[in-house]
Amino acid sequence: MSEATRTCVGCGRKAPQRELVRFVAPEGLLTRDETRRSPGRGAYTCRRPACFERAAATRAFSRTLRRNVRIPLELSTETWLIDKDH
Ligand SMILES: [Zn+2]
Repeated sequence: MSEATRTCVGCGRKAPQRELVRFVAPEGLLTRDETRRSPGRGAYTCRRPACFERAAATRAFSRTLRRNVRIPLELSTETWLIDKDH
């Protein structure tokens, strides 16, 4: 079974899409895409706070999504970032 891989915009690691979290910014506000099916460009990170924070700090979300992206504070503090499988 071949699986699409995506690149984490925080650390640059390539991983199967299901291991990563997809983000979209339909109105310029970064939103976690639970379904991974929202239209438009998506940016991916690992489920690790370090990757999310690094992507935010380097404006990688804005670069990848090709728009000015605002990041809600609550996104970076939610527990989804902790990968319980590892
Ligand atoms: Zn990463």
